[in-house]
Amino acid sequence: MRLASWVQHSEPSFIREILKAAQQPDVISFAGGLPSPELFPVQEAMEVYQEILSSQGSVALQYSPSEGETSLREVIATQLLKKSMQIQVDDVLITNGSQHGLDLVGKSFINPGDVVLVESPTYLGALQAFAPYQPRFVTVDTDEEGMIPEALAQALQVYHPKFIYLVPTFQNPTGRTMGLTRREQIVQLCQAAEVAIVEDDPYSDLRYDGRPVPSIRSLWNEVIYLGTLSKTVAPGMRLGWLVAPPKFMHAAKLGMQATCLNVSALTQHAAARLLSHPNHGQHIDTIRKAYGERMRCMLDSLEREFPSGTAWTRPDGGLFIWVTLPDGIRSFDLVESAYQNRVAFVPGTPFFVGNDGESNMRLNFSNSSLAQIEVGIRRLGNAIKQVEPQ
Ligand code: PMP
Repeated sequence: MRLASWVQHSEPSFIREILKAAQQPDVISFAGGLPSPELFPVQEAMEVYQEILSSQGSVALQYSPSEGETSLREVIATQLLKKSMQIQVDDVLITNGSQHGLDLVGKSFINPGDVVLVESPTYLGALQAFAPYQPRFVTVDTDEEGMIPEALAQALQVYHPKFIYLVPTFQNPTGRTMGLTRREQIVQLCQAAEVAIVEDDPYSDLRYDGRPVPSIRSLWNEVIYLGTLSKTVAPGMRLGWLVAPPKFMHAAKLGMQATCLNVSALTQHAAARLLSHPNHGQHIDTIRKAYGERMRCMLDSLEREFPSGTAWTRPDGGLFIWVTLPDGIRSFDLVESAYQNRVAFVPGTPFFVGNDGESNMRLNFSNSSLAQIEVGIRRLGNAIKQVEPQ
């Protein structure tokens, strides 16, 4: 059997191994990026699935158009209009989560060897989604606001990339957000170079502090924008959307037809009703409040428990805090010691294209109780103190 070359060049995800170990009942896990299951709108989901099957069963169990059900595309377009994006229903395509949107981006844009510019660090799952199309990833330096415009200007000139991939709001893994001025600068640079921007935005509704920043899509209608229900409703629905100009939309529809024909019609009808449900606004307020408390609890615990010389980001939202360990301590070396202390996290390196990130770790706060966060961070602090600097 001779598999494709990208398979041979890909390693099984180390993160999967950590997540498996983190499932032991006595391990406190800050490793995954999971929303909190006790906050899922189970009652509302039961209600809407029941309603759909009794009133629209034959439509909901049929195939549906590859771009998605019009009723859902309308609900999403209306929501995005309220966020100052100029959008029509035809600009919206429904995906199986935004991970599927990333695959459609790779499928539509990348010929082997094409350059894709990414932040450093960036979302690991995007690197995995694009990899089968065999791009050449080039990283652009970042600071506390994400991609640095001067570094981007240089990279655009040298590499003539196909597109740049950004998670500008509460980035995975760092939790950082790009300010408006920086967003405007990046749009100007990409417009001048005629390079597409892919804006991946799963987290902007999860803001716990500060004021919303306009999406990059609201600054430039050509931006390809990805959204999802995974963090605000439930990842088990596998429901996301892609917003794109007509030329890209044509390619994305062909991609849909080639891969999966359409997203489950039943799920799409359920999603349209859940997003329009009278409890939806309250549900978002509830998760924001709960995650905000968890984030602040983790920040306070880090302050108390982590040794001096450790630094971390202070996000205004999202699901992650990014830690930089004291000089000489490698986060990979800490995984085992943390496990002995019954706590799990994800080391920084997989989020970089090269071998950077050795002294970083990503901590998730959404899927642990306040008590677990306090105990888990104490355990992690002890594990760091037990590891000898190299
Ligand atoms: N993009 C980013 C930045 C993410 O963090 C995630 C989930 N971890 C995804 C995309 C994929 O989300 P989903 O496919 O569940 O919508």
